[in-house]
Amino acid sequence: MSTGTLTIDLNALVRNWRALDAVTGADVETAAVVKADGYGLGAARVARALMRAGARRFFVANSEEGAALRAAVGPAPEIGVFTGHMSGDTEMIQDTQLVPMLNSVEQLTRHFEALPGHPFGVQLDTGMNRLGLEPGEWMTLRDLVMQAGPKLLISHLACADEPENPMNAAQLNVFRDMTDGLNVPRSLAATGGILLGPDYHFDLTRPGIGLYGGLPFEGAEQVVRLSLSVVQIRQVAPGEAVGYAGGWVAARPSRVATVSAGYADGIFRALGGKLELFSDMESCPVVGRVSMDALTVDITDLSETPVSLDLICSVQSVDDVAAHAGTIGYEVLTSLGQRYVRRYAGGAA
Ligand SMILES: *Cc1c(COP(=O)(O)O)cnc(C)c1O
Repeated sequence: MSTGTLTIDLNALVRNWRALDAVTGADVETAAVVKADGYGLGAARVARALMRAGARRFFVANSEEGAALRAAVGPAPEIGVFTGHMSGDTEMIQDTQLVPMLNSVEQLTRHFEALPGHPFGVQLDTGMNRLGLEPGEWMTLRDLVMQAGPKLLISHLACADEPENPMNAAQLNVFRDMTDGLNVPRSLAATGGILLGPDYHFDLTRPGIGLYGGLPFEGAEQVVRLSLSVVQIRQVAPGEAVGYAGGWVAARPSRVATVSAGYADGIFRALGGKLELFSDMESCPVVGRVSMDALTVDITDLSETPVSLDLICSVQSVDDVAAHAGTIGYEVLTSLGQRYVRRYAGGAA
């Protein structure tokens, strides 16, 4: 029996992609970001489900992810690489037909020398100061780069999950200044940017987290369910302690279930004492410390004897778990461990 079962609802994923696609006009393409193995859910399955729904373009973080994705999706979809053309990646970019988003003068030089004529995009830094050419560099190089025929010009918003943040409009203005009149497809919006409105949509959007059911897409359908297997149930007398450092002491005659998942499976140790697992709708507090491979759960008030308990389910979303841990849904999803069995529901074929 595995640690737990991660059920991924590909139909819900596809509905989230369609819903985000419907926010933008008919002339705006909606790509899908499947970096970090599809935010931990399995890039190959995610991408194939979205292809059947009509997605034609994917983005990954690096060339290794791109090569693995190419093997899963075949030759047709375009695969963009956010970290661009890194040293040592030339062969992979060529062999697996990846489209690097070139980020620096160094990457532009590398790409034009190593793979002249090979498709590329350019990432522009409009204020996030993370990846991309700065406005000054772009002004100097623009004519030269435009002669080589970039397929796409992108930039990324730093504060798109805060609609009121003035940084959004500031980055939009810089992006316009850098790209207006160039007649090359443009992309600025990830999930948060899509929700900021049509000014941010340009020709192509690049949602990630919203597809997987996470904030800032409030209307997202939940995609993930995580059920953890119960290994053992014991009676604990009042005054007896449970777990490392005796982190919890029973105040009443208690029934404690030990569940086979822990911080090695992405259930952060900082969640100890703040987390609940669910048996259907009934909540059961996690008691004591989170250890590497086990959680202890107070099931005294449950009428049934559970064989599994849910961490992520209809009553506790990925973002609820994230809030308990003081983090974001992105981190919860991408930390989900490799020990879970991933089961895919829907999205047949
Ligand atoms: C991760 C990423 C995205 C997707 O962002 P979400 O917030 O998950 O929608 C889009 N563009 C770039 C450059 C990224 O790094």
